[in-house]
Amino acid sequence: MTRRDHDTLTYPLPEPPDFGDAVEIADGALWLRLPLPMALDHVNVFIFDEGDSWTVIDTGFDSRKTREMWQAVLDGPLAGKPVSRVIVTHHHPDHIGLAGWFQAELGAELVTTRTAWLFARMLTLDEHAVPTSETLAYWRAAGMAPQMIAAREKERPFNFSDIVAPLPLGYRRIKKGDRLELGGRHWTVRIGNGHAPEHATLWADEGDLVIGGDQLLPSISPNLGVYATEPEADPVAEWLESCERLAQYAHSGQLVLPGHKLPFRGLPARLRQLTGNHHGALDRLLEHLVTPRVATDCFDVLFKRKVGPAEYGMALVEAMAHVNHLYQLGEVTRRRDDNGAWLWQKAGSDGTAQETETT
Ligand SMILES: [Zn+2]
Repeated sequence: MTRRDHDTLTYPLPEPPDFGDAVEIADGALWLRLPLPMALDHVNVFIFDEGDSWTVIDTGFDSRKTREMWQAVLDGPLAGKPVSRVIVTHHHPDHIGLAGWFQAELGAELVTTRTAWLFARMLTLDEHAVPTSETLAYWRAAGMAPQMIAAREKERPFNFSDIVAPLPLGYRRIKKGDRLELGGRHWTVRIGNGHAPEHATLWADEGDLVIGGDQLLPSISPNLGVYATEPEADPVAEWLESCERLAQYAHSGQLVLPGHKLPFRGLPARLRQLTGNHHGALDRLLEHLVTPRVATDCFDVLFKRKVGPAEYGMALVEAMAHVNHLYQLGEVTRRRDDNGAWLWQKAGSDGTAQETETT
């Protein structure tokens, strides 16, 4: 979900490069943008000069257009040296989409976290012609309208493999605290959670650069979603924990290279905003749940605007994340309605508790 902030961040390069153009963002580091066919219409990738080869950070979706753009970059600004390594921050398709192509076609090594690799490989192999019964149950639990479920039930759902190239067997693992050399700098791997499990961020010893992926974004809040794979998950708690922990390493001089939007300075302030956004959303949601409601009836209050059909899926998984978090905290109760949807209600908002409170 995107939520705008009035922030105190600075953007040293306020004009992003055109799609497929590589511009220098730091010494030995290039910034490239690739298109995405959605409201968030781009993803950033960064390319580091290793002297005799290149390291690519994140790859964009697997589409004909993206492959063509990459080919032009490989034949143009990157020509003369091979891509030896692809570092992927997290398993989402806009980041890992072409990692398998770099491995299979260009002989690059894939470097990512174990969870990111396992998740991506599992999902590329898990193709379905119609939604699974678990997915339908999850949609019902979230309060999706029965006629919408009836329509979707017969349709081929979004499949991860539609936009992610097959991942060959094998990768190199990075984990919390690992040290890496990249583009002539030394980096420490720090892990974030909440947007994607075991999301890698890289922090340069020199203190000038941080590779943020979608863990550290300016101007939009990363989507925190609950899915049918883990319907009781509490990604909001994981997100808040990550922001707090990563803040220890943040200072305002670092240039953060994010997965979307513009490279920015002001990470300590940004982490406070990101945390504050969710606390604000949780407060609004809790008040809204004085009356029992299903998750799909919480979009307006969570996002402070009308959610259109293009954003419905993202809104649903994020609304579930927020009600699950309140439930884990004991601030809301839940029961099933006649359609199998969870009805969430602020704890103590029913008649009896109200009476107890006022006496
Ligand atoms: Zn992303």
